[in-house]
Order: sequence, then structure tokens, then C-alpha cells
Amino acid sequence: MKINIAIDGPSAAGKSTIADVLAKKLGYTHLDTGAMYRSVAYKAIKDCIGVEDENAVVEMIDKMDLQMNPDGTIILDGEDITGKIRTSEISMGASNVSKLKNVRKALVKMQQKISANGGYILDGRDIGTVVLTDAPIKLFMVASAKARADRRVKQDLEERGIVDDYDAILEEIEKRDYQDSHRENSPLRKADDAIEIDTSDLTLEESIETITNIVMDKMK
Ligand code: C5P
Repeated sequence: MKINIAIDGPSAAGKSTIADVLAKKLGYTHLDTGAMYRSVAYKAIKDCIGVEDENAVVEMIDKMDLQMNPDGTIILDGEDITGKIRTSEISMGASNVSKLKNVRKALVKMQQKISANGGYILDGRDIGTVVLTDAPIKLFMVASAKARADRRVKQDLEERGIVDDYDAILEEIEKRDYQDSHRENSPLRKADDAIEIDTSDLTLEESIETITNIVMDKMK
């Protein structure tokens, strides 16, 4: 029987990368819930809907056709937005929109429906505490803000050829950390039964090895 695995932690802690690797190893599907909040932010910005109008954002979600494909591509109302939701503007937009109670309610419902039959690895902020409270394996990945900013700069350069301003990235990470962990609705928090892994001093390969070992051990 396939179980579900919850991975939470602050932005740029490597959750998505680890979830992808684990999903491949286990034959599971990775659902990036952050990308769902990003998609909502993308459409709200495009349609000029402000976060102060919660009802309008929820109505927009009800009408949107969001496809979270198992290969990681994201199609919103027929448009491939996979790369378009990875900008700084959308990162902060997602953090802003994710404060809204009814937006969270709508997305949590979608996430629970998608993963209802097991075989999913969900990564986000509230997976272990709200979305999949009974997941048998819960991981909480942390790393210092500096280590995360270093990785983001390296990743942007390697994957997108973009040389970003280090201080601006660090500032965005710290701002999102604060916002995500101080909001009223489902703040970023480690579930009591989650295993915490600090990857600040680990390479990507070391993080993958450590986490794979923990998961394989738990699955025995
Ligand atoms: O994980 P990612 O950085 O792509 O998430 C973007 C934003 O979406 C986060 O900063 C957070 O505010 C929000 N989010 C959330 N709950 C989740 C996943 C993401 O509030 N489960």
C-alpha cells in the first residue's frame, strides 16, 4: 500500500528537490503545494485582483482550471505557467495570498483530494500540521537563511542563467520566513511528530542521502 509523505519547511530549504528525488525512487508523485499558491498569485496579479478582496480571490479560484501535472508542469486555464511563477514578484505574491483563510481552505481541499489514494509526496508549509495530519512520514527541512540564499543564487545561475542580487534574495527569504511563520492561518510550524533535518552544512548529495535513509528506514 502506498502512503503519503509530508515535507514542510521554510522557502528555499530544498523541499522540492528532495521530494522529486524521493518520488522517483519510490514511484510516488510529487505535489508542490507552493506552486499552487504561486498559481493563485499569478492569476490574481494578472486579473488585477487584490489580496484585500478575499471573496474575489476565492471566486477566482473556483473558476480557474489548474492542472498540476505529475511531470511538474503547471497549466493554468490552458497556459503553461511552469516557469512564469518562479519570479520574486510571484514568490511574495504567493506569501501574501496564502495568508487568506478561505484561499487556504480551497487549496487544502484540492491537495487532500489529489492525494486521497496515497502515493504522494506533498511539500509546503502546513502539510504535516493541516493537510496530511495522519501522514506516517513527516519531514521538516530547515537551513540557515544564508545557506538558502547561497543555494538560490547558484540555482538561478545554473538553471536560468540569471545572476541575481544576493542581498535582495536574502532579504526576500527573510521576509517570507517572517510572514509565513507569523500569519494567523496555518503558520509554518513543525508538526510534533515530524523529523527535523537541518541541511545548512550539507551538500545536496548529503541532504539527499540523509533524507532517503530516514524515509527508507521509516518505510520498513
Ligand atoms: O514553497 P514555495 O516557496 O513555492 O511557496 C510559495 C509561498 O506559498 C510560500 O512562501 C508560502 O507563503 C505559501 N505556501 C503556503 N502553504 C503551503 C505551500 C506554500 O502557505 N503549503
